[in-house]
Amino acid sequence: MKSENPTALGLKKSFGYGDRLGLAGPGHIAANEKFDFAGIFAQQSIRELDRTKRTAEEVMSAAQRSLAAVDYDKPWGADGDHLKTEEDVRRMAAAGYTFFTIDPSDFVVNEANGMGENDLRETVSRQESANIYGGHSLENLYLGKSYEISDELDLAFTPEALLRAGVKYGEAVHHMEKIARSIDRECADRPFEIEVSVDETETPTTTLEHLFIALELKRRCVDVVSLAPRFTGDFEKGVDFKGSLQLFEESLQGHAAIAKKMGPYKLSLHSGSDKFAVYPIIGRVCGELLHVKTAGTSYLEALRVILREDLPLFNDIACYSAGRFSVDKATYHLSVTDEDVAQLSHQKIADQEDFYLNQNKGRQLLHVTFGSVLTDGKRENGQTFKEAILENLEKHSQLHKDLLNVHFSKHLRLLSNG
Ligand SMILES: [Zn+2]
Repeated sequence: MKSENPTALGLKKSFGYGDRLGLAGPGHIAANEKFDFAGIFAQQSIRELDRTKRTAEEVMSAAQRSLAAVDYDKPWGADGDHLKTEEDVRRMAAAGYTFFTIDPSDFVVNEANGMGENDLRETVSRQESANIYGGHSLENLYLGKSYEISDELDLAFTPEALLRAGVKYGEAVHHMEKIARSIDRECADRPFEIEVSVDETETPTTTLEHLFIALELKRRCVDVVSLAPRFTGDFEKGVDFKGSLQLFEESLQGHAAIAKKMGPYKLSLHSGSDKFAVYPIIGRVCGELLHVKTAGTSYLEALRVILREDLPLFNDIACYSAGRFSVDKATYHLSVTDEDVAQLSHQKIADQEDFYLNQNKGRQLLHVTFGSVLTDGKRENGQTFKEAILENLEKHSQLHKDLLNVHFSKHLRLLSNG
């Protein structure tokens, strides 16, 4: 039977393939076929829809076209990523999405980390008066209890840790519940699943904070299929993991144990493109309870096709990206700087493919400027970059598919090796 429409995938380990250009499907599917991951072949955040001026329907039908071309017969998913409002939910539900990622980051209070006990206590009593905990007192709910997470992990809140978790995430969970209810309403009786993501906070999510979020979701009867913490270490866009592998593994074990005990639900890794150093650890620690999201890395493989097949076009794009960098870099987590980009002169770069598509600085420069390139960028002859890129990708569709296949097979193999 053909699977024309996305569905809920449940607790099967899964991989998300964001596709900003709508032509990466064949390569994504080819790679996914060789491994034991359910594919989420339509995945786009509201931010990316706006940046690329695409509609949720376009993203969905691009995936459906690629799947129909190979008579795809397995379940697959469609992720409306980073949804912040009920309006965002309506937009994705109307287009048939089945996986809803709630992003409560506007309600996360990052300052909680630096607040003193009096401030924390005052804030929590304000939350309680505003009925954030449904008429309960935070301390009555969670203080003095101990949580046996696994054989190795028992957790309990100290008064201060509980206040801090409440201040940081209390309103965020309250908001998650509101958005979850609206997903429920919009989807009526068709299958859907919910992820909650706190990956875009300023500091890594501690195991106690994760436990707090999980307890609050449970108390509010919000069922999630996955949760995305902000993990320890640096997960910059488009480049490999930076940080201590040992600390990463230790904290991942805590998060995985909580996900198993409190759900079970999957742990979700955002900014999952190119994090090769941590994949074997993630695969081993999470097992089936894993979801990974990627997006920008497919755009970079598309640019690799352009670089190999139409170097003048690539150079125009690289120049334009360098000019946009200082503005477009906002909201991204990066190590390439304005000074790095100012010093760039691609005429003087000996191996352009290596610099722009294999090394960190070039990759990040191209990675963060995709929105401008795809919406405003033009060649001297007036043709938009987007048209020129799509034309090239159609012409060289086999190379495009092969590059994506190789690139994602590397991701999936390392994740499976663990
Ligand atoms: Zn994210």
